[in-house]
Amino acid sequence: MTAAERAATTRITAARTTTDRDTAGPSAVLSAEGSAEPSAEPSAAPVLTAADLIADPGAHRVLTGDRPTGPLHLGHYFGTLQNRVRLQDQGVEMFVLVADYQVITDRDLADRLAEHTENLVLDYLAAGLDPERATIFAHSAVPALNQLLLPFLSLVSVAELSRNPTVKDEIAHSSQAAVNGLMFTYPVHQAADILFCKADLVPVGQDQLPHLEVARTVARRFNERYPHADGSAVFPRPRALISEAPMLLGTDCGKMSKSRGNAVALGADEDETARIIRGARTDADRRITYDPTGRPGVSGLLLLAALCQDRAPETIAEEIGDGGAAVLKRIVIESVNEYFRPLRVRRAELATDRGHLRQVLRAGAERANAIADTTLAEVREVMGAI
Ligand code: ATP
Ligand code: MG
Repeated sequence: MTAAERAATTRITAARTTTDRDTAGPSAVLSAEGSAEPSAEPSAAPVLTAADLIADPGAHRVLTGDRPTGPLHLGHYFGTLQNRVRLQDQGVEMFVLVADYQVITDRDLADRLAEHTENLVLDYLAAGLDPERATIFAHSAVPALNQLLLPFLSLVSVAELSRNPTVKDEIAHSSQAAVNGLMFTYPVHQAADILFCKADLVPVGQDQLPHLEVARTVARRFNERYPHADGSAVFPRPRALISEAPMLLGTDCGKMSKSRGNAVALGADEDETARIIRGARTDADRRITYDPTGRPGVSGLLLLAALCQDRAPETIAEEIGDGGAAVLKRIVIESVNEYFRPLRVRRAELATDRGHLRQVLRAGAERANAIADTTLAEVREVMGAI
């Protein structure tokens, strides 16, 4: 099966949220911190297929986003960006959020924030997001979205926040001497990002799945505690959309990340791409095989070539045979540079008009504010106007 065929069956598969550990009722949560009896609510996490979306794209709203901490990389592209563009092109309503407050979760200052924010927009547009169809905005520009954080924080326990594996991983990789409160609570802020526009689908990488669980928990507990007068729910329970590359590895075999110096940026030039990939960690075995668990370095490179060529990584491995890491890297460099050439040309063209990038953000913020104001008014009403 080629990468495309595999993708047809797996791409638009919602991550099963079978780990619904959020089964404690809202009042029990705060007293017993998650150890209460399960609620009677049935698990609402069916697998969503590509066919479901194509059949009724208008029934869904997607929200997804990135931190403006640096340029987007290949992990973003294959992990979520490509899915966003596909969903947009299928007619699903799309919100793309620049999570600028999240920058100061693991660093003191939001360094070069305006530049990073504009560059995110540049990467989005170059990858095919269309501001006429997708609402692109920074969450700091939407006050009502941020106000939702306050009631939402009352719906999760401190014990639940401290168990979040992604927060733990990010704390481990952060250079901060102490963990700040924003880092600790940012999954709840992310729930506000998703729920302010009542998004039901969130295309994300694997590291975000625990946060999706938080958003689902917040939505469910809010709905139980504060239903409309007619008993209907305020928020949908969002689901994750996982791509076929939910965690692309970086050159050090860890998650490719903007902040870890292990990434190939979408906008990197061909020489820089070659230099970074040549430096990727592999192993001494000359025979190239696809074994993600046993040989993460070699397999991560094979997957990258496979995604770019739309072929199976095993086939590429067989073709290389005993060629060793040098041949593998040459193929990966050629594949990446060829696949991203059109995107990089578009990116260079778009980069000449920074005013347009700022205008995209202004128009997006205006639309997001109108929606957030409506949602906050609804929330205040069901809560008794707090
Ligand atoms: P930082 O190092 O600053 O945290 P990052 O590279 O982790 O940056 P984020 O802005 O935190 O990027 O993540 C944005 C989105 O991209 C999330 O949905 C995340 O799951 C996804 N993503 C990030 N890195 C990868 C990767 N290596 N593979 C697949 N998806 C990824
Ligand atoms: Mg991250």
